[in-house]
Amino acid sequence: MFNQYILALDQGTTSSRAVVFNKKGEMVSLAQQGFAQHYPQPSWVEHNAMEIWATQLGSAQMAIAKANISPSQIAAIGITNQRETVVLWDRQTGNPLHNAIVWQCRRTASFCDELRAQGHQDSIQAKTGLLVDAYFSASKIRWLLDNVPSAREQAKAGKLAVGTIDSWIIWQLSKGKLHVTDPSNASRTMLFNIHKMVWDDELLDLFDIPRSILPQVVPSSAIVGQTAVEVLGASIPIAAIAGDQQAALFGQGCYSRGQAKNTYGTGCFMLLNTGEEAIKSTQKLLTTIAWQLGDQKPQYALEGSVFIAGAAIQWLRDELQIIGSAAESETLAASVPDTGGVYLVPAFVGLGAPYWDQYARGTIIGITRGTTRAHIVRAALESIAYQARDLVEALCVDANCSLTELRVDGGATTNNLLLQLQADILGVTVIRAKMESTVMGAAYLAGLACHYWADLSELISLIGSEATHFNPNLASEIREANYKKWQRAVKRAANWDTEG
Ligand code: ADP
Repeated sequence: MFNQYILALDQGTTSSRAVVFNKKGEMVSLAQQGFAQHYPQPSWVEHNAMEIWATQLGSAQMAIAKANISPSQIAAIGITNQRETVVLWDRQTGNPLHNAIVWQCRRTASFCDELRAQGHQDSIQAKTGLLVDAYFSASKIRWLLDNVPSAREQAKAGKLAVGTIDSWIIWQLSKGKLHVTDPSNASRTMLFNIHKMVWDDELLDLFDIPRSILPQVVPSSAIVGQTAVEVLGASIPIAAIAGDQQAALFGQGCYSRGQAKNTYGTGCFMLLNTGEEAIKSTQKLLTTIAWQLGDQKPQYALEGSVFIAGAAIQWLRDELQIIGSAAESETLAASVPDTGGVYLVPAFVGLGAPYWDQYARGTIIGITRGTTRAHIVRAALESIAYQARDLVEALCVDANCSLTELRVDGGATTNNLLLQLQADILGVTVIRAKMESTVMGAAYLAGLACHYWADLSELISLIGSEATHFNPNLASEIREANYKKWQRAVKRAANWDTEG
C-alpha cells in the first residue's frame, strides 16, 4: 500500500484540479487548469463541456507526472464536482450537443416562477428536499431538450445521455462504458426522490424529461468501474463520487449527526449532518443527501448558503478601495477593538438562506463621526460571521439540536480574525482544517471504497491532528445583544429594492 496513491479530481466552477494523496493523507502533488466562462446573455452562464474534460484530464496527467509515480500505482480515483451544472451528449459520439449549463445560470427562472405559481413547491420539496429554483438541474435539462434542435426526438430514440459534471467526467474516463452519478449529486437535480432513492416519474413528467437519458445512481463510495487504459495509461478503479459541498462535509470528518461545516469562499455553504433522517426544513434550508457509503443507508444533511461572504471583502478592495488586498482586511480590522457599533449587511444581490429576500440590498448602519475605514472593514468581516450564525440558528431549529463546534474551510479562512469573530459570534469552537476539505473528501471516499483506508476512525485520525482551534472569548450577554443588533440591521436592508 505504501507505493500506492489515491487520485482526487475536483472539477470546480472556474478550474479543474487533480491531487495525488499518499497513505498518510498527505498531498503529494497538485495540478490545476482554469477554463473559460461563457455569458451568452445577461445572467446566463455556460461552460464548454469538452474544455471541462480537457482541463480535468490535463490536470490529472500533470499531477501524476509531478508526483513522479506510474498510473498503475493509483489505487483508486475519487471525483468531486461543481453541482447542478448539466451536460447533454450523444451516446454514440460522446460529443456534447450544447455547452454545459452552469448552476449559476438564471435562464430558466421564469419557468421556475410558473412552477411555483402552479403550486408545485410543496410536492417538489417533499420529494427532493429542494426549493423550486433555476439553480437546480431539472429546468436546465428541460431547456436543453426544448432548445437544441432535434434533441427531444433523439432523446426519445435513446440516443442521448444527460448528467451532472461527475457523470460527464466518468463517461469520459471510461470511454463511454459508465453512465453513472451518486446520490449527493442526484439530490441536486430536482428529479431524484431522496427518500425512495429513485428518479421520480412524476417529476420526470413535470419537467418532460425521458428517464432513458438519465444516469444510473451508484453509491458515493464504491468501486463502480475502471478507467479505460488509454485515458491515463492504466485501468484505474473509479471509487468515489460526491458533489463539492458534500465532499467537503466528508473531508471535514463530519460523520455524525449534529456535526456541521461551513465553507467561506465568494459565498458560504453550511451543511449539517442529520444522519439517516432527511429533515424537512421549515426555515427555507435545503434537505440533501450527504453521501451513501457502499450498500449502507444514505446519510442526509441540511444545507444553507449565503451569497456574499468573501465577496464583501472583494468589494472593499475593488469597489470601495479601502483595502489593498483581501489579507489586509485582517490587519486593518485588528487595529480597532470593535466596529464602534457599525453593522454592514452585504445584501448586494439580495439575501440567501434563511431570508430568501431577492429585494434586500446592502446597508451600513450605526455610522458616527468617529467611524473609520477600519470599523467598516471589521463590520464586513463580522457580517460574514453573522450570516453564518443566521444559518446555524436556522439549522438548529430544523434539526432541533444545538451546535457544539463548527468546522471551517475555504479561501477566507486564512483570516484568523474572521475565525475568532466567528467563534465569538456563535459561542462555539471553530475548527479550521489543515487541508482543503473538498478534494480531501473525494480522496477519503475513494480510499474507503478500495480499503486503502480501513474505516471512518482511520480517516478521523488523519484529519484530527493538525487542525487549528478558535475558542469563543466573549461574554454571552454581549454576544446576544450584538446579534440582536445584527438582526435589526438585516431588517433595515430587507425588501429594499421595491417600488414605493
Ligand atoms: P471560491 O471557491 O468561492 O472562488 P475561495 O475559497 O477561493 O472562493 O475564496 C476566495 C474568497 O475569499 C474571496 O471572496 C476573497 O475575498 C476571500 N478572501 C481571501 N483571503 C481572505 C482574507 N485573508 N480575509 C478575508 N477574505 C479573504
